Amino acid sequence: MICDNLTRILNTIAQTARNAGRNPKKIKLVAVSKWMDIKQIQQAIDCGQILFGENYLQEASGKIQHFPRTINWHFTGHLQSNKAKQAAELFDVVETVDRLSVAQALDKHAKLLKKELSVLVQVNTGREKQKSGILPEETEHLLRLIAKETNLRILGLMTLPPFFSDPEKSRPYFKELKNLAELLAAQDLFTDNNNVELSMGMSGDYPVAIQEGATIVRVGTALFGARDSKEALL
Ligand SMILES: *Cc1c(COP(=O)(O)O)cnc(C)c1O
Repeated sequence: MICDNLTRILNTIAQTARNAGRNPKKIKLVAVSKWMDIKQIQQAIDCGQILFGENYLQEASGKIQHFPRTINWHFTGHLQSNKAKQAAELFDVVETVDRLSVAQALDKHAKLLKKELSVLVQVNTGREKQKSGILPEETEHLLRLIAKETNLRILGLMTLPPFFSDPEKSRPYFKELKNLAELLAAQDLFTDNNNVELSMGMSGDYPVAIQEGATIVRVGTALFGARDSKEALL
């Protein structure tokens, strides 16, 4: 089941990329495994998946320790500075940095761990009050501060647009993130300005995100099936 889903998703990613004139190898699938148990994650690993995303630190720490170091983990949940130590320990990439204080806290703990930590800056393209992320017009300033004050590797930008059942409605937000990233890359604000990562697109809209330039898509439900509260048990 998970293998079939994974094959289908990887085929869709490859096909969509080719149709858009893009190299499918430039697109990474983050398997968002929040609420999924170790068995389900292991199934995905057995089918060849090595990159996973988790949203909740406590849940993630109970799971990540079961897997070998060769498995890569992205943090995709909301992060507070007082949880930065755990996030720096557990994750290879934190996708949700949206304040200097969080970046500084991650940097401090990454240094103590002698670990090279990579981040994405989360942009609130939908300008939703309840949502994390920095506003598009404030992103440049934040990137300058993170580059000046920390040794974090700033890989690119991430966004979580408002939810629509029609994936076409997400397209303008993806376009906006891509345009913003190009503007900022032209000012050398990322660690590698020729390879800026754009994390955008989930189960319902990842093909649209790929058409608009996503290099990372974060897919949960389409891979593992629906999340219900029973599955939260480890
Ligand atoms: C849960 C989550 C996803 C995956 O969502 P699906 O619709 O299940 O694919 C992706 N990104 C973030 C930030 C999430 O919290």
